[in-house]
Amino acid sequence: MVEKAVAAGVTRLIAVGVDLERSGNAVSLSHAYEEVWAGVGHHPLEPSEPDLAAMRRLARDEMVVVIGEIGLDFEHVGGPHKDLQAQRLNELFAIATDLDLPVSVHNRGAAHELLSAISAHHGIRGVMHYFALDWEWAQRFLEVGFYLSFAGLITRPSRDALRDVVKRCPADRLLLETDSPYGNSQQRMGMPNRPAYLIDTAELVAELRGISLEQLADQERANAINLFQKMK
Ligand SMILES: [Zn+2]
Repeated sequence: MVEKAVAAGVTRLIAVGVDLERSGNAVSLSHAYEEVWAGVGHHPLEPSEPDLAAMRRLARDEMVVVIGEIGLDFEHVGGPHKDLQAQRLNELFAIATDLDLPVSVHNRGAAHELLSAISAHHGIRGVMHYFALDWEWAQRFLEVGFYLSFAGLITRPSRDALRDVVKRCPADRLLLETDSPYGNSQQRMGMPNRPAYLIDTAELVAELRGISLEQLADQERANAINLFQKMK
């Protein structure tokens, strides 16, 4: 998959973790391929308690560029209680600020709560991953210094409001991702997503913003290095 991504022109990848074991896998992958960096995270829907001490140790690895994926998910029925998710989020934010790492934040149905948590946590910086909200919300997350990351969702016909955000987002705060194996583009619906398919999203972003794919790639490389500093 990494080789196919590189062949497609996707030359910098972040493999994120959703629990300790898979964060460890991401770190291993980052040591095996020079194009891959790692995220150490605990997904808000994980039923297990995060082992914060072990996460902190793992996150000190030189290839770890982000604490993620972390966040709040209030839409999934049967997930951990909202208060528990919020408590874990604050603990994970603390690891990020202590280690001077950005966070990659998952949001479903919790934009208000996430904005408050970010505003209350001094020094936190990061990206709203798989951004799916409108321009009003986009502005609020931009105001607290966050980046917005867009995925294949922007290619869905019903997502005019999201494409509007893609057009208006400041160039230096825009990131791209696949969220693979989830979140494929319209043209590949029903297939598992892959890092190589980032190109689908990139092509539409370039078109919406009236720039070339090469200009977008240059901007994205700079943005990724600015946020995920160890990617240099
Ligand atoms: Zn997510």
